[in-house]
Amino acid sequence: MSFAMHGVGVSGGIAIGYAHLISHAVLEVPLFILPAAQIPDEIARFKAAIETTRLEMESLRANIPAGSPAEFGAFLDLHLMILGDSMLSRETVNLIQSKRFNAEWALKQQMEALLTQFDQIEDDYLRERKADVVQVVERVLKTLLGHPGPVSQPASPDLSRILVAHDLSPADMMLFKQQRFAAFITDVGGTTSHTAILARSLNIPSIVALHHARQLIRESELLIVDGQQGVVIVNPDKQILAEYKLRQGQWEIERQKLKRLKSTVATTLDGTVVELHANIELPQDIPQVKESGATGIGLFRSEFLFLNRDDLPDEEEQFAAYRKVAQDMKGLPVTIRTLDLGADKQLRFADRSGDNPALGLRAIRLCLAEPQMFHTQLRAILRASHYGNIQILIPMLSSLSELRQTLHLIVHAKQELALAEIPFAANIPIGGMIEVPAAALSVPAFAKHLDFLSIGTNDLIQYTLAIDRTDDTVAHLYDPLHPAVLQLVAMSIAAANKAGIPVSVCGEMAGDASLTRLLLGFGLREFSMHPAHVLRVKQQILKSDLPHVTRLAQKMLKTHEPEKLHQLLARLNA
Ligand code: PEP
Ligand code: MG
Repeated sequence: MSFAMHGVGVSGGIAIGYAHLISHAVLEVPLFILPAAQIPDEIARFKAAIETTRLEMESLRANIPAGSPAEFGAFLDLHLMILGDSMLSRETVNLIQSKRFNAEWALKQQMEALLTQFDQIEDDYLRERKADVVQVVERVLKTLLGHPGPVSQPASPDLSRILVAHDLSPADMMLFKQQRFAAFITDVGGTTSHTAILARSLNIPSIVALHHARQLIRESELLIVDGQQGVVIVNPDKQILAEYKLRQGQWEIERQKLKRLKSTVATTLDGTVVELHANIELPQDIPQVKESGATGIGLFRSEFLFLNRDDLPDEEEQFAAYRKVAQDMKGLPVTIRTLDLGADKQLRFADRSGDNPALGLRAIRLCLAEPQMFHTQLRAILRASHYGNIQILIPMLSSLSELRQTLHLIVHAKQELALAEIPFAANIPIGGMIEVPAAALSVPAFAKHLDFLSIGTNDLIQYTLAIDRTDDTVAHLYDPLHPAVLQLVAMSIAAANKAGIPVSVCGEMAGDASLTRLLLGFGLREFSMHPAHVLRVKQQILKSDLPHVTRLAQKMLKTHEPEKLHQLLARLNA
């Protein structure tokens, strides 16, 4: 059966491929009601999965490595016992038969019923065996999901896979960065969640906020993902498939054409030069930066060096990473943002998300609360500054006292290095991010202490409109064109220009070519974005007439009517 789903497109392009369901927790399984004729096969599939799991566990039991803890054998015996218990398998089979559930769902239902019974047990030891039941069920689910049984396998191995997930953390996305997939789609997440940003950084189509994709799509089903429109078509018919293949080809031709602009200087029609910098997460992203023709790194999200690991990178490791980026960029500016940990980017071994993570101990607040961790990073950045053109960028500043404390710590790190005669760039520029309305309103005061500013529109929108950027239920309210957002962005740019310090935008607004002229009209001359967007934004700049865009952009600041704003934006982009 063919059907379409609508979400929020976060990275353009069209992908055609086979669904690969992934989940954070193996227990996140889809539900579908099977046709009666498929029931015997489903039961056979479930029994085969139990048998495969039993064989795996028995083989583990027979080959326990020397030196393993004594409990290991007993633990496997217990798991084999649970696996063989008819309460688990017989009842699951009953559910497949009576409710026509797929095996995964039926097993999960039965597991939950068993766990409720465990809750009523008085004996602590037995009650704690709940975790063992979950682990055994996870093993069987893995077998079931790994062998999709009756579901069709990809007919052609060269057609790429499309990841279908309920949710992906930024840390998960970093792991997927090393693999090749045709597209990503998720049920939750907003357009500027870090997950979406990373999906975009892979330069493949992606859609978030699909709500039920993980539940409705089955392993290996054929999908079309239109990242531009935010549409997923499941099991398309031949005609639709042909139409999208055509569109996919056109998109690719367009992309190839843009590549010709790589070494063209980004100047407006009247000859004003605009700097286009790149955002990166890891030193490995540099080849993509070079490919895009970006003339510097405007945002190195250094916290990604800290994710997916069980320890903190030490000074040497950080120094090597920062130095590599500085050297690879050969004298072009490299803006290293100090740690923006917290909220959706938590350390694996010290999750401090709290009840309201976006408003909690995040970014510079966390660094000031953990001075040793911050000091190590500052030393590493300063040492690397000797090898290239590095600048320091402080995230999520909200008050002058925070800024003063930070500057004080930087001075302290410099003094320590100087005393030890370790070289660093004594005049390393220090900038601040404008991501909180309080900061946007404080630009004149901040500018007195800083060498440059960078507007993080992703957070600025989140905090101005009180919309959690990771929450798909409010994703539709996330609006870069909200008059309050436009006022704050325009005001920050104007105040920095007046103070005579460089200002850039490094949030997702900078990479959205439909907003390029608006930002130019606000007086912005420096943009930083994911490398994949540089050429499209450059194409816009090359066709822009500054006096004209400035007039229209200023007009946009005078209206609060959404419809009028959209009309003016259309005129600006005409
Ligand atoms: C921003 O908030 O706009 C920004 C660039 O920082 P991040 O997306 O990493 O929070
Ligand atoms: Mg931010």
